[in-house]
Amino acid sequence: MRTKLAAGNWKMNGTRAQLQELTAMSEAATKGAAEVLICPPATLVCAAAEAAEGIAIGGQDCHAAASGAHTGDIAADMLKDAGASHVILGHSERRADHDEHNDDVRAKTKAAWDAGLVAVVCVGETLDEREAQNTLDIIGGQLAGSIPDGATGHNLVVAYEPVWAIGTGKVPTTDQIGEVHDFMRARLERRFGEGVGRSVRLLYGGSVKGSNAAEIFAVSNVDGALVGGASLKASDFVPIIEALN
Ligand code: 13P
Repeated sequence: MRTKLAAGNWKMNGTRAQLQELTAMSEAATKGAAEVLICPPATLVCAAAEAAEGIAIGGQDCHAAASGAHTGDIAADMLKDAGASHVILGHSERRADHDEHNDDVRAKTKAAWDAGLVAVVCVGETLDEREAQNTLDIIGGQLAGSIPDGATGHNLVVAYEPVWAIGTGKVPTTDQIGEVHDFMRARLERRFGEGVGRSVRLLYGGSVKGSNAAEIFAVSNVDGALVGGASLKASDFVPIIEALN
């Protein structure tokens, strides 16, 4: 059985005062069976890892190289050293803002694994791609291109985040989510074998809230969520954690 995962992506939000919210999430995080992960901005990873009880901490990106002349970038083992256990890779905002492509994400995922981090690899179609009925082709291409050989249920989590659902309040129908998640499961089983393919957690992300979480979590092959806006406040995120338990 796959352990459910409630993951929060704080994106470019939060100074140290934000860590109070983490403390307020700890009780809910330690109470249930679901795992809880918060990915704060890099400036807070160290302090978050010290403050968090029962909550795993992750980065939001890492460089593909282990070290070197890359001003402003962060290597995977620096995240690990700061107390992170996970790193989000290939988020659509990174793909758009930093021109990251599947091969970049693949190299970063390798670097994350080398450092002993769990990679949370994001995939998702734009509205144009969905309207052109290319969703599964896009997702299939992103999965094949962004995930290196060597995936296991322990080193990989995949997040399906339709670009048009992020921060918009628009959520795909449960049938649309189920179609993509079943497809991703089948693709992972085909490439990595049934055992591995069945053990990788598949998260849904895009406008998840306390009010829609239970319905989304009831969809087949949805093992949790990657939450943006509603992960910033404990009062919004705790109901999502509780919906998974
Ligand atoms: P929202 O939950 O704010 O739509 O963001 C989703 C997301 O991008 C998480 O990585």
